[in-house]
Amino acid sequence: MSLCANCLALIPDAPGVAGHRALRIVDTQRRKIPRSVTVTLSTFRCTDCGAMWRYREAKDDGPQGWALLTTETASEGS
Ligand SMILES: [Zn+2]
Repeated sequence: MSLCANCLALIPDAPGVAGHRALRIVDTQRRKIPRSVTVTLSTFRCTDCGAMWRYREAKDDGPQGWALLTTETASEGS
């Protein structure tokens, strides 16, 4: 997979990191964890390189911020 420069510069697993301007939101989910916090998961797609990112926001001890899911243009082999 090849990420664009903006995606390469995105810092994963850190809270409060802003996305870059080529990211478009495609999905948002809110989940209430019983007897715990509300977790907000937002999915973004980079219009430059096709990378899919998830942004996790919750006031718990779980991972926060950006996580790379996959890239649509993944080309393995050859
Ligand atoms: Zn990108």
